Amino acid sequence: MGPDTDPLPVVVVGAGPVGMAVALGLAQRGIRVTVLEAADTVSFGSRAICISRHSLEVAHRLGFGEAVEETALPWLGGRSYFREAEVISFRMPMAEHDVRAPMVNIGQSELEQIMVDRILADPLVTLAWRAEVVGFHDDGSVVEVGVSTVEGLRTLRARWLVATDGGRSRMRELAGLSLEGTSYEGRYVIADIHWPSDLPVERRVWFDPPTNPGSTVLMHRQPHDIWRVDYQIDPRADVDAELQEDRIREQIAQHLDWLGNDVPWTLEWHGLYMAHARALDDFVHGRVIFAGDAAHLVPIFGVRGLNSGLEDAETLAWMLAAVIDDRAEPALLQAYAVERRSAWEQNVSNAAKSTRIMTPGTQGYVDTREAILRLSAAYPAFGFLINPRQSSATHAHTSMLTWHADTQARGTLPGDPVPDWRVVGEDGSATTLNVLRGNGFGLLAFGFDDSMYAAVTAGAERLAKELAPEPTQLVLVNGTATPIGHPMIVDEQLQWALGARDGEVFVVRPDGLLLARLVDPTDLDQVSDSIRSGQAPEGGRMAPEWPDTTPPADRHLEHLWLSLSDAIDRVDQQDREGMLTRLAFLLGSLVPVNRFASALGSAVELGKDDRLDSVHAATEQGYPGGEAR
Ligand SMILES: Cc1cc2nc3c(=O)[nH]c(=O)nc-3n(C[C@H](O)[C@H](O)[C@H](O)COP(=O)(O)OP(=O)(O)OC[C@H]3O[C@@H](n4cnc5c(N)ncnc54)[C@H](O)[C@@H]3O)c2cc1C
Repeated sequence: MGPDTDPLPVVVVGAGPVGMAVALGLAQRGIRVTVLEAADTVSFGSRAICISRHSLEVAHRLGFGEAVEETALPWLGGRSYFREAEVISFRMPMAEHDVRAPMVNIGQSELEQIMVDRILADPLVTLAWRAEVVGFHDDGSVVEVGVSTVEGLRTLRARWLVATDGGRSRMRELAGLSLEGTSYEGRYVIADIHWPSDLPVERRVWFDPPTNPGSTVLMHRQPHDIWRVDYQIDPRADVDAELQEDRIREQIAQHLDWLGNDVPWTLEWHGLYMAHARALDDFVHGRVIFAGDAAHLVPIFGVRGLNSGLEDAETLAWMLAAVIDDRAEPALLQAYAVERRSAWEQNVSNAAKSTRIMTPGTQGYVDTREAILRLSAAYPAFGFLINPRQSSATHAHTSMLTWHADTQARGTLPGDPVPDWRVVGEDGSATTLNVLRGNGFGLLAFGFDDSMYAAVTAGAERLAKELAPEPTQLVLVNGTATPIGHPMIVDEQLQWALGARDGEVFVVRPDGLLLARLVDPTDLDQVSDSIRSGQAPEGGRMAPEWPDTTPPADRHLEHLWLSLSDAIDRVDQQDREGMLTRLAFLLGSLVPVNRFASALGSAVELGKDDRLDSVHAATEQGYPGGEAR
């Protein structure tokens, strides 16, 4: 390390999962990377445990997906309880064509170790432990980085500095930047226990359990008989006292005893958690680029922290590699900044709702949560409001890089993620869409005949030369063309699910997002220019008024929940009951008397704890969810 040597192409600050993913993505594209890590080993304790289907796709593209899947525990859904009664169960989508489970559990430290092993096997990545960044200076063409090491202070020079040094980012502080947004009140004790229980792998949540009245308790199974137990602590409690190990053991023991446990267990790790929804305004500052928790924080409910950080990493890796290789102007990095800031907004919009259920901050939200939990026991539709909305891949509709789609386009639109899909290869063997399209740009040509195929092949070859060394792979989907050296998929359901029309070409980015839908394959000639400039033709950006895909009935319930909670918070405490009584009168006057009587009966019955498990409310048409459970 010395100030006179040639600048390194990229220095990554922080070997958390996001920094390591950036390094692997760059190395995959032939870029040399130096990763500086302040600690001397991977992090301890589970922290992020739930890895989404999309993150598994990222992990596979970066070369460590198989190792994760060998260890991780897949799961499909979960159950929520109110006091002693089970009030909802949910299942995440899992269709026959899905390649992976919607979610798998693996402790973050184990995931990090898998990534370290992958990095150590990569000659293009140098990982330096006990190398803490303590200063930097960006002169516009080179960034000088001050690093504290066991041998003293050292200076590195780099063309690009990627700051992935976590939620308490020193890099952010050194750059004079701060995260803006909201922090939530509720505090959770987070603990890992070793508990050889054979309970299923699912998300279980208890609201107001008898073992910890007023609190919320969450349990998740991880590999190696490790269980994650999170519980909310009383806002009036002394946090230091609550964090004493004896106290934590006592709380967890009460809960496990209540579950009927007779298997010995040990406390392995614990921490304190508060939910934050905060981000930098811009993720790119000169030659310093922020990613992961250093750039944004999202509440853990819905598990979007690490999952969104891996998306940052994959997008940044291909874009930064294109800039370093001079295939793109630095303007492309603005697309990274815009897309990932928008992804944070999407994540926060979902996570904020889950957080209001997990840690309702005001009396209005406390009251409505209890009502929703009780109603869910009889009317499953209310369960939508408690559904944890687990992390799913974010879109890039508002990116300047995302092409316009024509008005007839339906299904998967530019900016959307194109999910992996089980397909059968030409030789009859089982494979997947992602395997066939590869890790670079994928061109999916739908319903082509031989003459169209000849035209698209010529365009694809030109594009491949322009984008090299990023690979470009043409894949034929359905149609009558006879492929020469290109994979072919025959799967009408895939084409239907993507909403692709015969003759269309889907241009899929290396990070799995759809860049463009081309009705005219000669438009392929504009793809590399658009990447070079970081702009889609005609400026890109899908309309901001993107259709909300939430079913109208769910949207309606969500609106009721939010507006009722806010109204309860707005009125004087003494008038809450009065306001709700007036509201019931007003609404009751709008429906037939028998409907009102039946709703009244349910409302009364569902207030009795001993009736929650057995109550079956009236099933008249017009009630949410139709049939009661
Ligand atoms: C209790 C808890 C539960 C969570 N559960 C989930 C979940 O289920 N799913 C999910 O997706 N997310 C979850 N998250 C969020 C997830 O843990 C983070 O989003 C994730 O760790 C972010 O990764 P990162 O690489 O950006 O940062 P980090 O993992 O924080 O890594 C930053 C690294 O930078 C190093 N570093 C710091 N300063 C310097 C410096 N000056 N120089 C060099 N190195 C430095 C640190 O030592 C560290 O190794 C959870 C978080 C918590 C706290």
